[in-house]
Amino acid sequence: MKEKEDFKLLFNSPKRVVITIHTNPDADALGSGLGFSSILKKQGHDVTVISPNDYPDFLKWMKGNEEVVVFEHKQQESKELINKADLIFTLDFSDLKRIGDLGELVKSAEATKIMIDHHLEPEKYADFEKWSIEAGATAELIFDLAEEMSWLEYIGPDEAECLYAGIMTDTGGFRHPNTTQHIHEVVGKLIGLGANTSKVSKLIYDTNTENRLRLMGFVLSQRLVVMKEFNVAFIYITLDDQKKFNVQKGDTEGLVNYALSIANITMAAMFTESKDMVKISFRSIGEFSVNTFARKNFSGGGHANAAGGKSDLSLQDTIELFKSLVINNKQEIEDEVNAL
Ligand code: 5GP
Ligand code: MN
Repeated sequence: MKEKEDFKLLFNSPKRVVITIHTNPDADALGSGLGFSSILKKQGHDVTVISPNDYPDFLKWMKGNEEVVVFEHKQQESKELINKADLIFTLDFSDLKRIGDLGELVKSAEATKIMIDHHLEPEKYADFEKWSIEAGATAELIFDLAEEMSWLEYIGPDEAECLYAGIMTDTGGFRHPNTTQHIHEVVGKLIGLGANTSKVSKLIYDTNTENRLRLMGFVLSQRLVVMKEFNVAFIYITLDDQKKFNVQKGDTEGLVNYALSIANITMAAMFTESKDMVKISFRSIGEFSVNTFARKNFSGGGHANAAGGKSDLSLQDTIELFKSLVINNKQEIEDEVNAL
């Protein structure tokens, strides 16, 4: 942040606020966006959350969901909102490429820009930043900000549940190493403010469709490749597979973690074929940085242990490229197994 006092001044009078979140928003992006939006609305600001594209149904329970403007469906409205905004927040990303065409609009907007994020290697475009890789989730940073600004009175059960959803999912259900004492303290306070945590966990994790469960079974038995001697496992999903199981947005989310759950596997990937590219998810355990790996080889990035990227090659060529990169990185990946 520039100066705390300067930041506080931004909220002295009612403002037109736009909150943007990253493409393919997850529970942290959307939960931070909607939780924060509601906190600001309660203070009299006029706030709109803009998502670059649509998101899975299991996120659509959050308060304010109906008012989210989806840029890919409402480009003109989004443009007007951005041009008229006094303040633009960018949440859960820090690289304007992460929001596609929306990035240019945000960049050229006259509004004061505030970035709140926990991803590695942030781009410098904001007037104010609340950025920390120590944070397990952007939702944690939103809570910290609310506490610093004495805004806790604006967090009721609805806002607390939005923020809890972000923290719960970005920590992998409190299992990843980003699950700190502080994040548990934040969760304690969210519960104190009314979050029903078992309700949120049911809404997010236990609302599978039959198709998704069958897709999971199929993928785990037919589309999992284990490169045992390299401590790497990966999953791939073809367009045909997606057709066969009527795959909807979000249905493939989290599947990569099953590949990483195999003993002695320290790096996992998932390749999802789409019409114009292959979307890739990476996960790792320990020091091997999939952020660096994705950034260098697959125009992506993220966190040290969870990152994403894409490839313009065919699915098969992408997998071949990945395999050759794994072979080149054998030593680094192997070192992680020895350190386990
Ligand atoms: P996931 O594999 O769950 O889609 O993403 C893992 C992490 O990497 C998330 O924090 C996500 O924001 C980030 N990420 C996913 N795809 C990309 C990408 O294409 N570029 C960058 N910079 N980050 C990504
Ligand atoms: Mn996040």
